[in-house]
Order: sequence, then C-alpha cells, then structure tokens
Amino acid sequence: MSALQDLLEYQRLDGELRKIDLELNATEEKKKLNQAKVVMRNAELRIAAEDKRAVELKALRDSLIVRADEIAKAIAEYSEVEELVEGGGDVAFYKKSAQQLLEKLRALKQDLTRMLAEVEQLSAEYKKLMEQGKQMNKQRKEYSEKYKEVHARYEDRIQELTQKMEETAKSLPPEMLDRYHQKRKEKIFPVLVPLKGDMCVCGMDLPLAQRNRLAGGNVIECENCHRFIYNK
Ligand SMILES: [Zn+2]
Repeated sequence: MSALQDLLEYQRLDGELRKIDLELNATEEKKKLNQAKVVMRNAELRIAAEDKRAVELKALRDSLIVRADEIAKAIAEYSEVEELVEGGGDVAFYKKSAQQLLEKLRALKQDLTRMLAEVEQLSAEYKKLMEQGKQMNKQRKEYSEKYKEVHARYEDRIQELTQKMEETAKSLPPEMLDRYHQKRKEKIFPVLVPLKGDMCVCGMDLPLAQRNRLAGGNVIECENCHRFIYNK
C-alpha cells in the first residue's frame, strides 16, 4: 500500500474511534459526570474567594473595634466637662467636639451594619455552596460508576481500533503522522479529503498548478480550511 492509502486507513480507524468518543460524550452518564465536575470546580473557586473575603472582614472587624475604643475614650473625657467649664473652658468647643463624636459614632454604626449584612450574606452563600458541593460530589461518584459501565461496553472495540492504528502508523512516514496529529489537535476532521472537481470540500478553488501537484499520491494543504487534499 502507498503511504496515502495507509494514511487513509489510519484516518478511517481514527474516525471510528472518534465516533465512539462522540457517542460516549453524548451519553447521559458522561453528561451528568461532567456537570458534577464543572459545578464542583466552580463551587471550589467561589468558596476560595469567600474564604479570602472572610479574612478581609476579620481585619475590618478589628479596625471597627479600634474605632469604637477611640470613641469610648473620647466620651470618657467628658466626665470632667463640668469642672472644665467652671474653670473657664469654652462650652461651644465642647459642644462642637461632642457633635463630632456623635457623627463618628453614627459612621461606625453604619459601617458595622454594612459589615454584618455582608457576613450574613457570605455565610448563607457559603452554606449553599457546601450543600451544593455535597450533592454534586454524590452525583459525581454515582455517575463515575455508571460511566465506567458504559465505557466498559466499548473497551474491546477501542482496544482493537487502537491496536490497528498503531500497526498502520508503523508504515507511515513519521513526518506525515506528525502533521496528521497536528491537524487533529486543531480539531480538524477528516484531515484528508478527496479533491472535489477543481475544489476542496470547503469550496475553495484550487488552481491547476496546485492540482497538478496531487499526482502520484501527493497531498496538498488547503489554504482555506487547512485540510490535506488528495486525488482519488
Ligand atoms: Zn479546504
């Protein structure tokens, strides 16, 4: 067999494997398994973000305590306000300073309320995520087992095809095989397509000079879809 014939056979076997892969991916078992994995991954990311926020909130709580202590200290100084005023202190000054303290206290209360609301929201979300994670972990385990059973039904066929591919690969020039796999990585399938009139299967016109290069089992690459074209 020519190298082209071998490569076509290789592609045929590859196509059979690909079909099995698509069939497996379309099964309910695989879909449920993948869904569980995706949801769990997302839940993990969100939990990690919430853990980080919780650390920030702890620091915020500490700073609020410091502010409360400062205000308490300032208020304590007012216990001597009568003596200070009697001694000639400025009442207007103490009034103003008391007003400022009141404003600080109000701001502190606002920040505290905001923080507590966030803590509450965060803890509710956290609980929800943990519950979801637990459920999805159960689903993952369940469908992992079920999918194994489904996969087992294809195993002999997969092995047979893989072996045949390995056999065929032995007679292919390594460079050709590399290029084939490169195309497959680019999600191109089929990689090799027959010339269709004067065109590639994608509709790209091929000038005569290019088509002439197809003689003797040579392949050319389509500039449009990057498939390999051969002449039957
Ligand atoms: Zn093309």
